[in-house]
Amino acid sequence: MKERSGIKNRAMKAAAGFLRLTNGFPFRQLYGGAGQILAFHRVVPEFSGERIWSNSYLEVTTGYLETVIQYYRSHGFDFLSMDDLINGGFERKKKFVVFTFDDGFRDNLTQALPVLEKHGVPMTIYITTDFPDKKTILWWNVVEDVILANAHLSFEWFGERMEFPCSSPAEKNETFGMIHSLIQEGNELTLKERAMKFCSTFNTDPFASIRELAMDWDEVREMSRNKLVTIGAHSISHPVLSQLSAENSFDEMNRSKLRIEQETGKRVDHFAYPFGGMTEATGREYELAEKCGFRTAVTLVSASVKKDHSNKLFELPRIAVGMSMKKETFELMRFGVIQMMRKRATPV
Ligand SMILES: [Zn+2]
Repeated sequence: MKERSGIKNRAMKAAAGFLRLTNGFPFRQLYGGAGQILAFHRVVPEFSGERIWSNSYLEVTTGYLETVIQYYRSHGFDFLSMDDLINGGFERKKKFVVFTFDDGFRDNLTQALPVLEKHGVPMTIYITTDFPDKKTILWWNVVEDVILANAHLSFEWFGERMEFPCSSPAEKNETFGMIHSLIQEGNELTLKERAMKFCSTFNTDPFASIRELAMDWDEVREMSRNKLVTIGAHSISHPVLSQLSAENSFDEMNRSKLRIEQETGKRVDHFAYPFGGMTEATGREYELAEKCGFRTAVTLVSASVKKDHSNKLFELPRIAVGMSMKKETFELMRFGVIQMMRKRATPV
């Protein structure tokens, strides 16, 4: 595994070096686009202790965030808000980058904002309203805590005895994947009920994480008053919109818009589809987002924004950023190579 990732890193370095020499030809011209919208989730001071890899992918450190800002600055990108983008952003000569943050984590206020303020970089935060309402179960955090605290797991799951080894980091990561599937893909009950069942099995308060990690409405209002911050909507309960009836899909989008407007006293013009892949937000959702009165909506289809996206404002592509992305990855992204290879970056 190590050997393979070593080869991959060397190949990426070589490809990035070659593209620097040719200034990205021919990829930049074909896929480089007019700019990029980046998607983040949590921003933490530093990683501490042992972690489950797939959870840590949803976090970057403040130092890493700063490095990303410096990377785009050193290559002459303009830093735009989503409003700037629709107010002339597509006609700019210089390439642009937009920083966006999903869900509504408190560290967007305490960790990300100070870094972005230091560099004068605008941010858009897409709020899932169940976050400030403290109704979401961050069950993947509960699963991580349970796995890290135990060397072996044994529990009853819908009449079946489950046994998972988790004494080494490799076993813990593997077990996490299996329990994640049990909860995410199970057929019994709803997702939320399965998550509740897992929490009660391990005697954990299902809402402790969301109380600690999500902004409350006072904090959302504080953010909305900051000139660098745009608050967008990200649904009420973070469902897969395409799996809902058209009526319910519209309702999830529309009610989240109205709720945030009511709480902040400001118009909400921008939306991010939960999960955001091509199967989770389809043409129907693009139409519904427009019908709600949003002015833009972003996916998590990993690609650069092109000039002709000015006519496709409800399907703007967005690139999820994780700590595993090295300088070479950004180099290949800037030239459009990564987007060409990979249509979707992350499952959230
Ligand atoms: Zn989300």
